[in-house]
Amino acid sequence: MNPGEKIGPVLKILEEHYPDAHVTLDFTNPLELLVATVLSAQCTDVRVNKETPAIFKKYPTAAAYAAAPLGELEAAFHPTGFFRQKAKSIQGICRALVENHGGQVPASLEELVKLPGIGRKTANVVLGNAFGIPGITVDTHLGRVAQRLGLTPNQDPVKIEFDLMPLVPQARWTKFSHQMIWHGRRICTAKKPQCPVCPLLPYCDYGQDATKGGH
Ligand code: SF4
Repeated sequence: MNPGEKIGPVLKILEEHYPDAHVTLDFTNPLELLVATVLSAQCTDVRVNKETPAIFKKYPTAAAYAAAPLGELEAAFHPTGFFRQKAKSIQGICRALVENHGGQVPASLEELVKLPGIGRKTANVVLGNAFGIPGITVDTHLGRVAQRLGLTPNQDPVKIEFDLMPLVPQARWTKFSHQMIWHGRRICTAKKPQCPVCPLLPYCDYGQDATKGGH
């Protein structure tokens, strides 16, 4: 089966199994989601959600992050790991927001990816979940599941995104991303994919091979 043939059943099965898939980072506005997404690098969403209420209270605006002493941001971000890098990154982003966007997070992919250190993945998370603009978020889970299913031959996240965009209806891009990420976290894990119990098995190249003893 080629990707065009299997995508229909794959989307149906994902919807049946993960009808309420959603972003697992807590936020109430685009800036909070942008900050939480940067903090979630190399950290669990659960951990980030524990720290962000106090962070969001202390720094309610881009200007607040932009003006904060770097050491103070590092201390606030410390529990999420890689805190020096994250402090520098978030301050750089917020300074750019203040200088170029009146302190607001822009609602366009083109503008978001111009912010320092922001790639298409983070931009699509923010667009899809804070602005309701569809985007496919190719993180490590989505990339792995898409490859195993045979929806893409590529490793590069941007190439994977462009392979998936014509296959998946645009209105489903954001939900599809969450569903694939949830599936990757729960069943199609990196080390031990649970192929024999996976609902996508009939449509999965890797799974078919694995259950025949190929992996
Ligand atoms: Fe992943 Fe296996 Fe399911 Fe394919 S059949 S999506 S490899 S768990």
